[in-house]
Amino acid sequence: MQNTTLIPTQHLYQPVIGLEVHAQLSTKSKIFSGESALYGGEPNTQLGPVSLGHPGALPFFNKKALEFAVRMGLATNCQIQEVNQFARKHYFYADLPKGFQTTQMDTPICYGGHLDIDVNGETKRIRINRIHLEEDAGKSTHDIDPNNTLVDLNRAGVPLIEIVTEPDMRSADEAFAYFAEIQKLVRWLGICDGNMEEGSLRCDANVSVMLKDAAQYGQRAEVKNLNSIRNLKRAIEHEVTRQIEVLENGGKIVQETRSFDADNGTTFSLRTKEDADDYRYFPEPDLPPVVVTQGYVDAIKANMPALPAALQVQFESQYGLSPVDARGLTEERAVALYFVNLAGISINYKAAVNWILNNVRSYLKDNGMEMAKFPVTFESLAGLIKLIDDGVINHTIASQQLFPAMLQQPDKGAEILAKELNLIQQSDVSVIGNIVDDILQAHPTEVQRFRDGEKQLQGFFMGLVMKASKGIADPKAATQVLLDKLQTK
Ligand code: ADP
Ligand code: MG
Repeated sequence: MQNTTLIPTQHLYQPVIGLEVHAQLSTKSKIFSGESALYGGEPNTQLGPVSLGHPGALPFFNKKALEFAVRMGLATNCQIQEVNQFARKHYFYADLPKGFQTTQMDTPICYGGHLDIDVNGETKRIRINRIHLEEDAGKSTHDIDPNNTLVDLNRAGVPLIEIVTEPDMRSADEAFAYFAEIQKLVRWLGICDGNMEEGSLRCDANVSVMLKDAAQYGQRAEVKNLNSIRNLKRAIEHEVTRQIEVLENGGKIVQETRSFDADNGTTFSLRTKEDADDYRYFPEPDLPPVVVTQGYVDAIKANMPALPAALQVQFESQYGLSPVDARGLTEERAVALYFVNLAGISINYKAAVNWILNNVRSYLKDNGMEMAKFPVTFESLAGLIKLIDDGVINHTIASQQLFPAMLQQPDKGAEILAKELNLIQQSDVSVIGNIVDDILQAHPTEVQRFRDGEKQLQGFFMGLVMKASKGIADPKAATQVLLDKLQTK
């Protein structure tokens, strides 16, 4: 259950939120060794001396991780660090055999950027403080064996970027929108699969509240273990309410790390600042600084795909799309590409958008399918749109019968299938006239009521005409014939 306590003075407070997002980079090998970084292997099969911390094992830096981090930095308007020094962050834990995590401390690879988000139709800019590169730790599982914690070290050494915002968000909705934007972006750039359930994308939320007229931010708590975007929102909402309650009851917020309990929608304390570890950071002596030249950055920039935000603006101006449609099409790169291809051969842009955002998208959703695997080519879909525009088939038949048939037999063109399945629209007024005559004859009472002024019965008759024609009667022609016959005795 969500905490729904209503505090009368809640409206006097302003929530302040900063997010730290960890994204696992989809490189083939780990960040400081050639060990496989692929997800899903048998536990403890993707290991080597480097991630096991064997004495004398020497790390080396995976250039692909650098390229991916720089892509993200450029996509979020960051500056790129020229001289990158790695650092050791020391702590003891079973899933970290080395006794330290290799990370970046003073020289994050990217810094000083921003990302624009859309909240209820308004654009808001969220500043990004830094993006740094680091290695992941192994994975501890506490709930498989009742007596033991199980450790899988396959994940130890997998590359991560940590993306840290300034405390610029003011509501759970803004945090939700920011996180969704980051998820979209890492997928778009092809640097991370963005999968929260598998832990490829993780988020910690720093939350504080202050009185609206206060000059300073309040003390913050950091909430961890947010394993879905919905839980991110729930956790922030709960945390804001909790902090206001504490303050209203004369208490103080202590700086602490809290965990979210998804079952009852609350957060609980893990540790306070006083028992925070001293990580004893120092420069990693086994890795020389990574120097990033302007030429290297320019080369990556030249190979970047058009970003969703830019594409959205382009779609609005080039095809005259509404912001909502343009945004829908740029949620995913493969979808945007499909649209561009479709728009290239189908002049009816609005129809192209509607088919993609409604029929195609719900088919993908229902089947848990990615756009890349969608069976109907853009050429075939263009064929279907043209059949509708030319009046050869009607829209209802196209969406309820032809489109599903095309999904089953994607190799056949729209027109061939429409003929095979007898879906071609019937516009012949004499054929329609016969159908209408039969119906009017079978319903004398309704005919009389219509003639006496119950004009809404037109829908009733149209329904019967469409049914009798198995849906293929041209609705315009049918309406005309029907009204003619109803009005002239
Ligand atoms: P630390 O080094 O202790 O992690 P940072 O200054 O790096 O602290 O901040 C970590 C995160 O906390 C950032 O995302 C930042 O935006 C956020 N943050 C800092 N102060 C506040 C605050 N008062 N309320 C909410 N979030 C905050
Ligand atoms: Mg931090």
